[in-house]
Amino acid sequence: MDFLRPATWEDALAMKAARPDATPIQGGTDVMVEINLDKGRPTALLDLNPVAELSRWSWTAGPAPMLRVGAGVTYTRLIAELGGWLPGLAQASRTVGSPQIRNRGTLVGNLGAASPAGDGHPPLLASGALVEAESVRGTRLIPIGEFYMGVKRNALEGDELIRAVHVPPAAGPQCFAKVGTRNAMVIAVCSFAVALDLRARRAGTGIGSAAPTPRRAHAAEEFLAGELDWDGAGPVDPALARRFGELVAEAAAPIDDVRGRADYRRHALAVMARRALGWAWAEREV
Ligand SMILES: Cc1cc2nc3c(=O)[nH]c(=O)nc-3n(C[C@H](O)[C@H](O)[C@H](O)COP(=O)(O)OP(=O)(O)OC[C@H]3O[C@@H](n4cnc5c(N)ncnc54)[C@H](O)[C@@H]3O)c2cc1C
Repeated sequence: MDFLRPATWEDALAMKAARPDATPIQGGTDVMVEINLDKGRPTALLDLNPVAELSRWSWTAGPAPMLRVGAGVTYTRLIAELGGWLPGLAQASRTVGSPQIRNRGTLVGNLGAASPAGDGHPPLLASGALVEAESVRGTRLIPIGEFYMGVKRNALEGDELIRAVHVPPAAGPQCFAKVGTRNAMVIAVCSFAVALDLRARRAGTGIGSAAPTPRRAHAAEEFLAGELDWDGAGPVDPALARRFGELVAEAAAPIDDVRGRADYRRHALAVMARRALGWAWAEREV
């Protein structure tokens, strides 16, 4: 196995162009597990850790600045440094693995792996993130909803790397919820994120581990935009929250597998979505 170690981002792009077969490695918390379990032996590893700029985050320019989270920013740093602007993503990040995994693992690694169960995906979908993909041919910003192509498949071309993820700062309360077989260190049986935009009066959603790819619940978003009393005081109308949960569950396409049955996932999603909406709405009043 060849081990490629670029010192700069330009070197990394040139190496990926010359060796599209090379597997990028950042935290290695997915890549090394695959290698150790002999699930596949890459012909080459492209180690992005020496590329210092990837471990930075910044704000994008323009009228609606977003947080540009570099590919090397770990979950631990995302929680500590960006949690105030990205509460839904930080909440999801806190559920990833253990402190050791969060110290190594990255959001971009989650995107690279594109597992339907990855915890980073629902909040990225709910907030309308963009994936900054780059190759020697140029840069493109891929809307998050177009990034997931199938089970563990994403929209990257063979010569492309992810440089960063652009995430809008929260414009209202956000909430992430996850069901697992225990309370920590667990792959999601299913998960859900909601992001309320109080200015635009709309909600974003993201469903995890309940379809071949992470996905939004479009009908549920439209329902909330039209039916939620955005100026209202007090808790969310229970009937409205229940209907929201049903619409989220209807948007899923789960299967039976070792972690749970399809009908359980649908039920759990409906409950999580109803509760997550209530929790997010209650935060608005604090
Ligand atoms: C014990 C344990 C517990 C875990 N628990 C969770 C959990 O609760 N929730 C969860 O979501 N995940 C969990 N994971 C999986 C893993 O930690 C996450 O998916 C993490 O986000 C991977 O990040 P990484 O930086 O380690 O990625 P890596 O392993 O380095 O890479 C992951 C994938 O992304 C690709 N990649 C990396 N960087 C780039 C780049 N810049 N451009 C393009 N492709 C790239 C790699 O080639 C690979 O396909 C767990 C893993 C372990 C070992």
